[in-house]
Amino acid sequence: MPQLRYDPITRQWVIIAPDRGRRPPAQRTVRRESAPEHCAFCSGHDDHLTKIIREIVFCHPDGGAREWLLRVVPNRVPALVVEGDLRRTAKGVYDRISGIGAHEIVIEGRDHRQHPADMSSAMLEKLIGIWCERMDDLMRDIRLRYVQIFKNYGMIGGETVSHPHSQIIATPVIPPRVEQELVSMQAHYLAKERCLVCDVIEQELADGERVVTVNEDFVAICPYASPTPFDLSILPRRHQHDMRDIDARQTRNLALLLKDLFQRLRRGLADPTFTLTLRTAPNPKAESVSAFDARLIGRFAHWRLDLTPHPPLVGGFEQGTGMWINPTAPEDAAGFLRDAIPDAQR
Ligand SMILES: [Zn+2]
Ligand SMILES: [Zn+2]
Repeated sequence: MPQLRYDPITRQWVIIAPDRGRRPPAQRTVRRESAPEHCAFCSGHDDHLTKIIREIVFCHPDGGAREWLLRVVPNRVPALVVEGDLRRTAKGVYDRISGIGAHEIVIEGRDHRQHPADMSSAMLEKLIGIWCERMDDLMRDIRLRYVQIFKNYGMIGGETVSHPHSQIIATPVIPPRVEQELVSMQAHYLAKERCLVCDVIEQELADGERVVTVNEDFVAICPYASPTPFDLSILPRRHQHDMRDIDARQTRNLALLLKDLFQRLRRGLADPTFTLTLRTAPNPKAESVSAFDARLIGRFAHWRLDLTPHPPLVGGFEQGTGMWINPTAPEDAAGFLRDAIPDAQR
Protein backbone atom coordinates (compact mmCIF):
# COMPACT_ATOMS: atom_id res chain seq x y z
CA MET A 1 0.00 0.00 0.00
CA PRO A 2 1.34 3.47 -0.79
CA GLN A 3 2.55 5.57 2.09
CA LEU A 4 2.99 9.29 2.74
CA ARG A 5 6.30 10.03 4.42
CA TYR A 6 7.50 13.27 5.99
CA ASP A 7 11.11 14.44 5.85
CA PRO A 8 11.98 16.29 9.07
CA ILE A 9 14.79 18.27 7.38
CA THR A 10 13.15 19.40 4.14
CA ARG A 11 9.66 19.38 5.73
CA GLN A 12 8.33 17.78 2.58
CA TRP A 13 5.68 15.10 2.29
CA VAL A 14 6.51 12.41 -0.26
CA ILE A 15 4.20 9.69 -1.60
CA ILE A 16 6.08 6.40 -1.66
CA ALA A 17 4.09 4.25 -4.08
CA PRO A 18 6.31 1.28 -4.89
CA ASP A 19 5.67 -0.45 -8.13
CA ARG A 20 6.71 -3.91 -6.99
CA GLY A 21 7.13 -5.31 -10.47
CA ARG A 22 9.86 -2.86 -11.36
CA ARG A 23 13.27 -2.74 -9.73
CA PRO A 24 15.75 -0.18 -11.07
CA PRO A 25 14.38 2.49 -13.40
CA ALA A 26 13.99 0.99 -16.84
CA GLN A 27 14.69 4.23 -18.66
CA ARG A 28 18.19 4.76 -19.96
CA THR A 29 19.14 8.36 -19.92
CA VAL A 30 19.87 9.93 -23.26
CA ARG A 31 23.22 11.63 -23.00
CA ARG A 32 24.74 13.70 -25.70
CA GLU A 33 28.41 14.50 -25.84
CA SER A 34 30.16 17.54 -27.16
CA ALA A 35 33.31 16.94 -29.19
CA PRO A 36 36.74 17.81 -27.72
CA GLU A 37 37.58 19.85 -30.84
CA HIS A 38 34.85 22.32 -29.89
CA CYS A 39 35.44 22.19 -26.14
CA ALA A 40 36.61 25.39 -24.42
CA PHE A 41 37.74 23.37 -21.39
CA CYS A 42 40.14 21.09 -23.27
CA SER A 43 43.87 21.88 -23.28
CA GLY A 44 45.00 23.98 -26.19
CA HIS A 45 41.80 26.03 -26.18
CA ASP A 46 42.91 28.48 -23.50
CA ASP A 47 42.06 31.41 -25.77
CA HIS A 48 38.39 30.51 -25.20
CA LEU A 49 38.78 31.18 -21.48
CA THR A 50 38.31 34.78 -20.33
CA LYS A 51 40.33 34.22 -17.16
CA ILE A 52 41.78 31.48 -14.95
CA ILE A 53 40.78 32.10 -11.35
CA ARG A 54 42.73 29.18 -9.86
CA GLU A 55 44.74 26.29 -11.19
CA ILE A 56 46.31 23.20 -9.66
CA VAL A 57 49.42 22.28 -11.61
CA PHE A 58 51.28 19.01 -11.86
CA CYS A 59 55.04 19.11 -12.45
CA HIS A 60 56.60 16.03 -13.98
CA PRO A 61 59.23 14.60 -11.58
CA ASP A 62 61.82 14.44 -14.38
CA GLY A 63 61.67 18.21 -14.68
CA GLY A 64 59.47 18.07 -17.77
CA ALA A 65 56.45 20.15 -18.64
CA ARG A 66 54.02 21.61 -16.13
CA GLU A 67 50.44 20.55 -16.76
CA TRP A 68 47.26 21.78 -15.15
CA LEU A 69 45.14 19.22 -13.30
CA LEU A 70 42.17 21.29 -12.14
CA ARG A 71 41.09 24.75 -13.17
CA VAL A 72 38.56 27.28 -11.94
CA VAL A 73 37.27 29.71 -14.58
CA PRO A 74 34.40 32.20 -14.71
CA ASN A 75 31.25 31.01 -16.46
CA ARG A 76 31.08 32.68 -19.86
CA VAL A 77 27.34 33.23 -19.45
CA PRO A 78 27.12 33.90 -15.72
CA ALA A 79 23.79 33.69 -13.89
CA LEU A 80 25.03 36.44 -11.54
CA VAL A 81 27.91 38.95 -11.80
CA VAL A 82 30.53 40.18 -9.32
CA GLU A 83 30.74 43.80 -10.42
CA GLY A 84 28.30 46.46 -9.24
CA ASP A 85 26.52 47.60 -6.13
CA LEU A 86 24.11 45.46 -4.20
CA ARG A 87 20.89 47.45 -4.27
CA ARG A 88 17.56 46.49 -2.81
CA THR A 89 14.59 48.23 -4.33
CA ALA A 90 10.89 47.71 -4.76
CA LYS A 91 8.16 48.69 -7.11
CA GLY A 92 4.90 48.35 -5.26
CA VAL A 93 4.63 44.82 -3.94
CA TYR A 94 7.49 43.59 -6.13
CA ASP A 95 10.95 43.46 -4.49
CA ARG A 96 14.20 43.20 -6.34
CA ILE A 97 17.93 42.98 -5.68
CA SER A 98 20.64 43.69 -8.25
CA GLY A 99 22.06 40.47 -9.69
CA ILE A 100 25.31 40.44 -7.72
CA GLY A 101 27.04 37.13 -7.22
CA ALA A 102 29.55 34.82 -8.82
CA HIS A 103 29.34 31.95 -11.25
CA GLU A 104 32.42 29.79 -11.62
CA ILE A 105 33.22 26.50 -13.33
CA VAL A 106 35.63 23.92 -11.96
CA ILE A 107 37.18 21.99 -14.84
CA GLU A 108 37.76 18.54 -13.39
CA GLY A 109 40.84 17.36 -15.22
CA ARG A 110 42.16 17.30 -18.77
CA ASP A 111 40.36 14.20 -20.00
CA HIS A 112 37.30 15.32 -21.98
CA ARG A 113 35.60 11.92 -21.79
CA GLN A 114 36.50 10.80 -18.28
CA HIS A 115 33.58 9.30 -16.37
CA PRO A 116 33.17 10.55 -12.76
CA ALA A 117 33.53 6.94 -11.56
CA ASP A 118 36.97 6.76 -13.22
CA MET A 119 38.35 9.89 -11.59
CA SER A 120 41.11 8.87 -9.15
CA SER A 121 40.40 9.38 -5.48
CA ALA A 122 43.49 11.63 -5.35
CA MET A 123 41.83 13.89 -7.96
CA LEU A 124 38.54 13.83 -6.08
CA GLU A 125 40.44 14.93 -2.94
CA LYS A 126 41.89 17.85 -4.89
CA LEU A 127 38.42 18.70 -6.20
CA ILE A 128 36.93 18.75 -2.69
CA GLY A 129 39.85 20.96 -1.63
CA ILE A 130 39.17 23.38 -4.49
CA TRP A 131 35.46 23.57 -3.62
CA CYS A 132 36.31 24.51 -0.02
CA GLU A 133 38.96 26.98 -1.12
CA ARG A 134 36.56 28.73 -3.51
CA MET A 135 33.89 28.91 -0.78
CA ASP A 136 36.47 30.49 1.54
CA ASP A 137 37.45 33.04 -1.07
CA LEU A 138 33.90 33.92 -2.17
CA MET A 139 32.75 34.25 1.44
CA ARG A 140 35.22 37.08 1.96
CA ASP A 141 32.71 39.12 -0.01
CA ILE A 142 30.10 40.10 2.58
CA ARG A 143 27.55 40.77 -0.17
CA LEU A 144 27.43 37.05 -0.90
CA ARG A 145 25.29 35.13 1.57
CA TYR A 146 25.36 31.61 0.19
CA VAL A 147 27.64 29.56 -2.04
CA GLN A 148 26.00 26.70 -3.93
CA ILE A 149 28.29 24.01 -5.32
CA PHE A 150 26.80 21.48 -7.70
CA LYS A 151 27.61 19.09 -10.48
CA ASN A 152 25.32 18.07 -13.32
CA TYR A 153 26.47 14.88 -14.99
CA GLY A 154 25.02 14.13 -18.41
CA MET A 155 23.04 16.44 -20.64
CA ILE A 156 20.58 17.85 -18.18
CA GLY A 157 19.56 21.21 -16.83
CA GLY A 158 20.67 23.00 -19.96
CA GLU A 159 24.17 21.54 -19.84
CA THR A 160 25.94 22.19 -23.08
CA VAL A 161 29.43 21.04 -22.15
CA SER A 162 30.21 17.40 -21.52
CA HIS A 163 33.82 17.94 -20.32
CA PRO A 164 33.86 16.93 -16.62
CA HIS A 165 33.09 19.99 -14.54
CA SER A 166 31.23 21.29 -11.52
CA GLN A 167 29.76 24.73 -10.87
CA ILE A 168 29.82 27.29 -8.09
CA ILE A 169 27.14 29.98 -7.83
CA ALA A 170 27.30 32.54 -5.01
CA THR A 171 24.05 34.39 -4.28
CA PRO A 172 23.23 37.63 -2.41
CA VAL A 173 20.36 35.86 -0.62
CA ILE A 174 20.14 32.66 1.41
CA PRO A 175 18.08 30.42 -0.88
CA PRO A 176 14.63 29.68 0.62
CA ARG A 177 15.15 25.92 0.64
CA VAL A 178 18.43 26.29 2.53
CA GLU A 179 16.83 28.65 5.05
CA GLN A 180 13.85 26.31 5.51
CA GLU A 181 16.15 23.41 6.31
CA LEU A 182 18.13 25.51 8.79
CA VAL A 183 14.85 26.44 10.50
CA SER A 184 13.92 22.72 10.74
CA MET A 185 17.29 21.87 12.25
CA GLN A 186 17.08 24.79 14.67
CA ALA A 187 13.59 23.77 15.85
CA HIS A 188 14.85 20.27 16.64
CA TYR A 189 17.85 21.70 18.48
CA LEU A 190 15.76 24.14 20.53
CA ALA A 191 13.41 21.33 21.60
CA LYS A 192 16.03 18.66 22.29
CA GLU A 193 19.48 20.30 22.37
CA ARG A 194 20.59 17.75 19.79
CA CYS A 195 21.42 18.05 16.11
CA LEU A 196 18.63 16.67 13.89
CA VAL A 197 21.02 15.24 11.31
CA CYS A 198 23.21 13.60 13.98
CA ASP A 199 20.01 11.96 15.27
CA VAL A 200 19.09 10.82 11.74
CA ILE A 201 22.57 9.34 11.24
CA GLU A 202 22.45 7.45 14.54
CA GLN A 203 19.02 5.99 13.73
CA GLU A 204 19.91 5.07 10.14
CA LEU A 205 23.14 3.34 11.20
CA ALA A 206 21.22 1.40 13.86
CA ASP A 207 18.42 0.43 11.40
CA GLY A 208 20.77 -0.25 8.51
CA GLU A 209 18.06 -0.82 5.87
CA ARG A 210 18.55 2.54 4.13
CA VAL A 211 22.36 2.59 4.42
CA VAL A 212 24.16 2.04 1.11
CA THR A 213 27.75 2.35 2.24
CA VAL A 214 29.68 3.74 5.18
CA ASN A 215 33.28 4.49 6.15
CA GLU A 216 35.01 5.99 9.17
CA ASP A 217 33.88 9.54 8.39
CA PHE A 218 30.88 9.40 6.03
CA VAL A 219 27.66 7.48 5.51
CA ALA A 220 25.52 7.32 2.36
CA ILE A 221 21.82 6.66 2.84
CA CYS A 222 18.66 6.61 0.74
CA PRO A 223 16.65 9.12 2.81
CA TYR A 224 13.44 7.87 4.48
CA ALA A 225 11.27 10.28 2.46
CA SER A 226 13.29 10.32 -0.79
CA PRO A 227 11.41 12.38 -3.40
CA THR A 228 12.79 10.39 -6.33
CA PRO A 229 14.09 6.82 -6.86
CA PHE A 230 17.67 6.12 -5.70
CA ASP A 231 18.15 9.54 -4.09
CA LEU A 232 21.23 9.53 -1.89
CA SER A 233 22.43 11.73 0.96
CA ILE A 234 26.09 11.71 1.93
CA LEU A 235 26.47 12.76 5.56
CA PRO A 236 29.59 13.52 7.62
CA ARG A 237 29.36 11.27 10.70
CA ARG A 238 31.08 13.86 12.86
CA HIS A 239 28.89 16.86 13.70
CA GLN A 240 30.01 19.66 11.40
CA HIS A 241 27.93 22.59 10.13
CA ASP A 242 30.24 23.97 7.46
CA MET A 243 31.90 21.87 4.75
CA ARG A 244 34.95 24.14 4.92
CA ASP A 245 35.81 22.59 8.32
CA ILE A 246 36.54 19.22 6.67
CA ASP A 247 39.98 17.84 7.66
CA ALA A 248 42.49 15.80 5.64
CA ARG A 249 41.23 12.39 6.75
CA GLN A 250 37.62 13.35 6.08
CA THR A 251 38.58 14.69 2.64
CA ARG A 252 40.21 11.36 1.82
CA ASN A 253 37.21 9.39 3.06
CA LEU A 254 34.74 11.61 1.22
CA ALA A 255 36.70 11.14 -2.01
CA LEU A 256 36.64 7.35 -1.51
CA LEU A 257 32.91 7.37 -0.77
CA LEU A 258 32.08 9.50 -3.82
CA LYS A 259 34.09 7.20 -6.07
CA ASP A 260 32.34 4.18 -4.55
CA LEU A 261 28.89 5.71 -5.17
CA PHE A 262 29.68 6.87 -8.72
CA GLN A 263 30.72 3.29 -9.50
CA ARG A 264 27.60 1.80 -7.89
CA LEU A 265 25.39 4.12 -9.95
CA ARG A 266 27.20 3.31 -13.17
CA ARG A 267 27.01 -0.42 -12.54
CA GLY A 268 23.58 -0.66 -10.91
CA LEU A 269 21.62 1.94 -12.87
CA ALA A 270 23.32 1.66 -16.26
CA ASP A 271 25.25 4.96 -16.08
CA PRO A 272 22.47 7.41 -15.20
CA THR A 273 22.67 11.18 -15.43
CA PHE A 274 22.88 12.67 -11.94
CA THR A 275 23.11 15.85 -9.92
CA LEU A 276 25.38 16.29 -6.91
CA THR A 277 24.41 19.21 -4.66
CA LEU A 278 26.00 20.63 -1.55
CA ARG A 279 24.01 21.83 1.47
CA THR A 280 26.20 23.80 3.83
CA ALA A 281 26.11 26.80 6.16
CA PRO A 282 25.61 30.30 4.72
CA ASN A 283 28.42 32.86 4.75
CA PRO A 284 29.03 33.67 8.44
CA LYS A 285 30.56 37.05 7.50
CA ALA A 286 27.44 38.25 5.68
CA GLU A 287 24.92 39.62 8.11
CA SER A 288 21.37 38.92 7.09
CA VAL A 289 17.88 39.02 8.46
CA SER A 290 16.97 35.36 8.62
CA ALA A 291 14.47 33.03 10.21
CA PHE A 292 17.16 31.23 12.21
CA ASP A 293 19.62 32.37 14.87
CA ALA A 294 23.03 32.55 13.19
CA ARG A 295 24.80 32.48 16.59
CA LEU A 296 23.58 28.92 17.18
CA ILE A 297 24.29 27.62 13.70
CA GLY A 298 27.39 25.66 14.76
CA ARG A 299 25.16 23.64 17.10
CA PHE A 300 22.14 22.82 14.96
CA ALA A 301 23.29 22.84 11.31
CA HIS A 302 24.91 19.79 9.68
CA TRP A 303 26.21 19.86 6.10
CA ARG A 304 25.67 17.15 3.49
CA LEU A 305 25.85 16.28 -0.21
CA ASP A 306 22.81 15.05 -2.12
CA LEU A 307 23.32 12.74 -5.08
CA THR A 308 20.27 12.32 -7.32
CA PRO A 309 20.44 9.85 -10.24
CA HIS A 310 18.04 10.43 -13.14
CA PRO A 311 17.06 13.91 -11.94
CA PRO A 312 13.37 14.04 -12.74
CA LEU A 313 11.35 16.43 -14.81
CA VAL A 314 8.77 18.23 -12.74
CA GLY A 315 5.28 17.03 -13.63
CA GLY A 316 1.94 18.69 -13.03
CA PHE A 317 1.29 17.03 -9.68
CA GLU A 318 4.73 17.93 -8.31
CA GLN A 319 4.47 21.45 -9.67
CA GLY A 320 1.03 21.96 -8.19
CA THR A 321 1.61 20.45 -4.77
CA GLY A 322 5.36 20.46 -4.16
CA MET A 323 4.95 16.76 -3.29
CA TRP A 324 6.66 13.96 -5.14
CA ILE A 325 5.46 10.48 -5.99
CA ASN A 326 8.35 8.03 -5.70
CA PRO A 327 7.78 4.56 -7.19
CA THR A 328 10.87 3.03 -5.53
CA ALA A 329 10.87 2.58 -1.76
CA PRO A 330 14.16 3.95 -0.32
CA GLU A 331 14.73 0.62 1.49
CA ASP A 332 14.57 -1.22 -1.87
CA ALA A 333 16.81 1.40 -3.51
CA ALA A 334 19.41 1.09 -0.73
CA GLY A 335 19.35 -2.72 -0.96
CA PHE A 336 19.78 -2.56 -4.71
CA LEU A 337 22.74 -0.14 -4.51
CA ARG A 338 24.36 -2.18 -1.70
CA ASP A 339 24.40 -5.10 -4.14
CA ALA A 340 25.85 -3.00 -6.99
CA ILE A 341 29.41 -3.62 -5.83
CA PRO A 342 31.93 -0.96 -6.96
CA ASP A 343 34.82 -1.97 -9.21
CA ALA A 344 37.52 -2.02 -6.53
CA GLN A 345 35.66 -4.58 -4.41
CA ARG A 346 34.80 -7.04 -7.17
ZN1 LIG B 1 36.89 19.08 -23.26
ZN1 LIG C 1 25.04 17.11 13.57
